[in-house]
Amino acid sequence: PGRGSVLLNVDGMTKRFGGLVAVDNVSFEVKAGTITALIGPNGAGKSTSFNLITGALKLTAGHVTFAGRDLSGVKPHEVVSLGMARTFQHVKLRPTMTLLENVMLGCYQRTRSGFIAGALKLDGVEERAVYNEAMRELERVGLADKAHDLAGNLALGQQRVLEVARALAAGPLLIMLDEPAAGLRSLEKKALAELLRGLRADGKSILLVEHDMDFVMSLADRVVVLDFGKKLAEGAPAEIQANPAVQEAYLGS
Ligand code: ADP
Ligand code: MG
Repeated sequence: PGRGSVLLNVDGMTKRFGGLVAVDNVSFEVKAGTITALIGPNGAGKSTSFNLITGALKLTAGHVTFAGRDLSGVKPHEVVSLGMARTFQHVKLRPTMTLLENVMLGCYQRTRSGFIAGALKLDGVEERAVYNEAMRELERVGLADKAHDLAGNLALGQQRVLEVARALAAGPLLIMLDEPAAGLRSLEKKALAELLRGLRADGKSILLVEHDMDFVMSLADRVVVLDFGKKLAEGAPAEIQANPAVQEAYLGS
């Protein structure tokens, strides 16, 4: 998809948990080559939205269309093979594997059959290709010098960067990041923001869910604000920052 075309379309997305409407008729788009942020106070419905879009949860109503395809009934691993890669709010790396091995796992995700089948089928030539590709992703995120260190020995900020490299290795059209700045120190946040800007410059598309408003404001092209499950506002960062309803929602949390 060319820059500026609609990559992800969320239309009337709704999720009920019993009597609670956690996500209430939310609609927005993500355009190719942009960084879009979904923000909101605690309990606003960010994580639920993320899980609905990635297929981890089923919508009660509405539609999610990705790269022109309705994702209704599509399973999470199939969503990955359609070109959506995600990271997790609580880092899910393999701490006893090296950085390189962790990123190689991301490469295998792209194969429909998944990691185990993918690994079994690989011959030496393919294995070498995966190795080289994983190394390229580590270079892209600035971690190549640590390729053979154990992932568990990295500081949290670098673990988040490694997760981005693993997501990139799946060759995604869209990278979904769940609270990437959570728990990071100020310098780590700056480094991560710089990395994400670089990916955008390379034409990548990013949707991030984030509580940290400052992190988002320096980074996103477009911001969607949720509050109590509903879309409260949408616009460029400066518009969102100046919006009294958004300020009130954040002050109240
Ligand atoms: P956020 O990520 O913005 O903090 P969540 O999406 O986690 O918000 O939660 C939105 C609302 O839905 C909250 O009131 C939360 O308690 C509720 N919720 C989330 N997941 C579940 C679930 N599995 N069952 C019941 N309620 C849930
Ligand atoms: Mg959350």
